[in-house]
Amino acid sequence: MTVDGLLDHALVRLDEAASHLNIDQDVIEKLKFPRETTKVRLMIRMDDGSRKSFLAWRCRYDDTRGPTKGGIRFHPDSTADEVETLAFWMTFKCAVMNLPYGGGKGAVQVDPRKLSKAELERLSRAYIQAFARIIGPDRDIPAPDLYTNSMIMGWMADEYAQIKGQAEPAVITGKPIALGGSLGRGDATARGGYYLVRHLAEDLGLGQTMRIAVQGFGNAGQNIASLLGADGHKIVAVSDSEGAVGSKAGLHIDLLLEAKAKGQSVASTAGQGGHELLDPKDLVGVDCDLLVPAALENMIDCQNASSVKAKLVLELANGPVTPEADAILARNGIVVLPDILANAGGVTVSYFEWVQNKQGYYWDVEEIHERLKTIMEREGRAVWNISREREITMRTAAYVHALGRLAEAIEAHGTQNFFTS
Ligand code: GLU
Repeated sequence: MTVDGLLDHALVRLDEAASHLNIDQDVIEKLKFPRETTKVRLMIRMDDGSRKSFLAWRCRYDDTRGPTKGGIRFHPDSTADEVETLAFWMTFKCAVMNLPYGGGKGAVQVDPRKLSKAELERLSRAYIQAFARIIGPDRDIPAPDLYTNSMIMGWMADEYAQIKGQAEPAVITGKPIALGGSLGRGDATARGGYYLVRHLAEDLGLGQTMRIAVQGFGNAGQNIASLLGADGHKIVAVSDSEGAVGSKAGLHIDLLLEAKAKGQSVASTAGQGGHELLDPKDLVGVDCDLLVPAALENMIDCQNASSVKAKLVLELANGPVTPEADAILARNGIVVLPDILANAGGVTVSYFEWVQNKQGYYWDVEEIHERLKTIMEREGRAVWNISREREITMRTAAYVHALGRLAEAIEAHGTQNFFTS
């Protein structure tokens, strides 16, 4: 996250995709720069009466295909470069999935674990006070990301309603169900990846029982372990920011979930049920069939990419593999299901939430799952076919798929306001 030039790295993928399509260079140039990034300093009162300030951003990267969409993360290492990169990825993610959105992202540079609940609420409300003029149900729609959750989205939706003097639930997604949240949003990121892997299992030559390693055990990591574990696959290693455990016979997912629910690291389960302590640095190179990076950016880089033993990588995190590492994995015949497709289940169910808020009629969870499955399979298949036909990686194929849609929309808008609108 602290790597300089994260956006420069991301743009490498855009150029690569562009080389496979016949697209006007102006269109590519337009996509190389965020439309607007706003930076503010949020000042809040702490519980002890003192005041503290935090840097915060909201980037609307591109709104050609619709209102900008993307989460807000609370992380001590967040930077403007990171926010813009994440917003760039959201632009392509929404286009891959054919959602009627552009891409955006927000962040506050804060370690939320150091704040009390009341301080966290004041910070969340301060964010909306600062950005109320930028966001809106048809302009820019935030959602949860790293270290933000439905409780925080609830406070934010409430603050926006206070400012506008009326309920506007479609301004933010990932809300609590009681405030117009959607059923199925909680595990949507992992569930989308799960449907994708299941759909492509035969094409990828995956066995009946896979050995799986999961890096990062937050929302996405926990849910993918539960979903794949329930299908009889073996979770052989997991890590979080404080440690890692492994077991050749398979970890007990309930023990891991219990530890996390108590606020403890997965490492605290070592010694129980055959769980053995691992060095988290070794997780990427664990002997397994499927590796799931579900933590931060740049976790698989040129230093550790050659140690990957998995046949398949499912990117539930955003940007976990650097472009250099991509080349190493491809050379070693490892297939990467890229972030902009693999973790798009989250924003897809966010889209369902927004649609339900706008229509005022709510679907049951089976309907949400079915709709998510249909979209994941349709777009996953399309990316797979592009990758086979053109003999390119799944990542480049996903960018080609998205860029085709973006270019069509940019051109349909006309060129009069090309670089300003
Ligand atoms: N933060 C999630 C992502 O990176 C979800 C964004 C959303 O739901 O708008 O895809």
